[in-house]
Amino acid sequence: MPGSGPKDRTIATHAGNHPFSNEGVINPPIQRASTILFERLEDIPDRQKNRFDVNYYGRYGTRTNRALKEAFCALEGSERALVLPSGLAAVAVALMSFLRPGDHLLMVDTAYEPTRVICDNLLRQFGIETTFYDPMIGAGIEQLIRPNTKVVYMESPGSLTFEVQDVPAIVAVARAKGCVTMLDNTWATPLFLKPPALGVDVSIYAATKYICGHSDVMMGILTMSRKHHRKMGNMAHSYLGNTVSADDCYLAVRGLRTMHARLVQHQETALTLAAWLEKRPEVVRVLHPALPAAVGHANWKRDFKGSSGLFSFVIGPCDTNRVAAMLNGLQLFKMGYSWGGYESLAMVENVRVLRTATPWSFDGHLIRIHAGLEDPDDLIADLAAGFDRLGKD
Ligand SMILES: *Cc1c(COP(=O)(O)O)cnc(C)c1O
Repeated sequence: MPGSGPKDRTIATHAGNHPFSNEGVINPPIQRASTILFERLEDIPDRQKNRFDVNYYGRYGTRTNRALKEAFCALEGSERALVLPSGLAAVAVALMSFLRPGDHLLMVDTAYEPTRVICDNLLRQFGIETTFYDPMIGAGIEQLIRPNTKVVYMESPGSLTFEVQDVPAIVAVARAKGCVTMLDNTWATPLFLKPPALGVDVSIYAATKYICGHSDVMMGILTMSRKHHRKMGNMAHSYLGNTVSADDCYLAVRGLRTMHARLVQHQETALTLAAWLEKRPEVVRVLHPALPAAVGHANWKRDFKGSSGLFSFVIGPCDTNRVAAMLNGLQLFKMGYSWGGYESLAMVENVRVLRTATPWSFDGHLIRIHAGLEDPDDLIADLAAGFDRLGKD
């Protein structure tokens, strides 16, 4: 019944916690383990069979790992989850679970750069061919599907440039053709978009970002239906040997508890900064899915419940020394890879070399912003001083 279950914020606060099977302690116990002991020889076959759901061997995780998976599935509305040592490990496991030599992959042209690198190197070496497609292709994806196309991979909004894909249209075509669909949903988190509700088969998350949320954990999460779970679980843990420590799972569960409060603030600050940037004479374009001029804005409006703290803006062509002067002098915005922590970040990215299906049309420099939890007035003052440095000779 729609509207009858608990709302997201409530789920994110409680799911996966079982205090009264944990002596009243609210948070899940940190069960660190390699060897798991069996009391009787006869118990082993059953435990082996259920290795994703009970303690069997440390590599498959313990109660702490399962608390995270349970909470995340409840929030996303998915059947099963896997926890991986990084977001990129989740991308690789998802692709390797469904692709074999001779298969064909459709990959969005605006994918996270290391995802593209996996296609151009690892998958190619295994005899898997990738075609990169225009993020705005929608139902037109049908023309690119071949008899050997096994996976259609989406990332929305696009990395660095934030084009919002028509996920339902792509899923409808891919399903009819028997392809598995995957969506990297790191930007939105399940709070702002639930891929299973749009019919997506596999959701991919860099939990490193908003889920852990404090710039101190590397982690990936995959969610899928019961049908795909065992195959993907075996790829992750039995073939590739991935494992994630109980301590990191504990931090991810803790991050999940405050994710809604953080995202609401990231959203508000990002929108404030984006509106201010749009008025700056130096700025050619602000790339933020919630702005009416954004590519795919109508898709965002239809499918998403909100926008997070990551967006970009483009400044006109100028000497890179000036851009360096602008960024090097920032006091609050720091330069560095990754995002999704409490702190603000600013980074210059060269998009031109990262697109092969859809040429990048701007001449200037793209600066990606992660709006942190600082006061927006202070962040604006920091950027304003940066623009002063940009303009000086
Ligand atoms: C960061 C990121 C990843 C990779 O995550 P890591 O934890 O850094 O390996 C994958 N996809 C997207 C969209 C990301 O932003």
